[in-house]
Amino acid sequence: MAINYPIKNCRNCNNPFQPTCNCQFYCSLKCIFWPKVEIKGSDECWEWTKGKTLAGYGLCGIHRQRYYAHRLAYEFTYGPLPEGLHACHHCDNPGCCNPSHIFAGTPKDNMQDMYKKGRHPGVVGLKGSDNGMAKLTDENVKTIKTLLKYGYKQPVIAEIYSVHRKTISRINTGETRSHI
Ligand SMILES: [Zn+2]
Ligand SMILES: [Zn+2]
Repeated sequence: MAINYPIKNCRNCNNPFQPTCNCQFYCSLKCIFWPKVEIKGSDECWEWTKGKTLAGYGLCGIHRQRYYAHRLAYEFTYGPLPEGLHACHHCDNPGCCNPSHIFAGTPKDNMQDMYKKGRHPGVVGLKGSDNGMAKLTDENVKTIKTLLKYGYKQPVIAEIYSVHRKTISRINTGETRSHI
């Protein structure tokens, strides 16, 4: 049976709303989210002011769940992210929540974007160094498989990870690391 909690005023926008539990202080998710963003000029970065991941992405807690802040910024502005797409940054700032700096892209877009900026996630060693297969972590291989699935070209992946093309080709055919 539904319990009717007394009407409250939202702590952010002050509008009256009907809470569905005693723990609810805001009328909407947007009212939980936006006050935690340092909103600036339209072409500046809007920094997330609360907790962040080690990589610098903002984390927003809503009803005991944690969400990526930049993803929420995207969805509150443009609507739900299309399935399989990620919220990616045009700017080089993972903590940024300015919707005009965030776009929906494939992991491939994200990688290309980072690659252009010289920030390669999961890169083993420096570009051109002689890294063998053994230096790729399972996590790297997982990412490589995702990139292959999205149609990323093998020589490009090889370059990002500083490994021989054959290494990527062997992952692709399942010759190595097929257990991942
Ligand atoms: Zn509100
Ligand atoms: Zn930004």
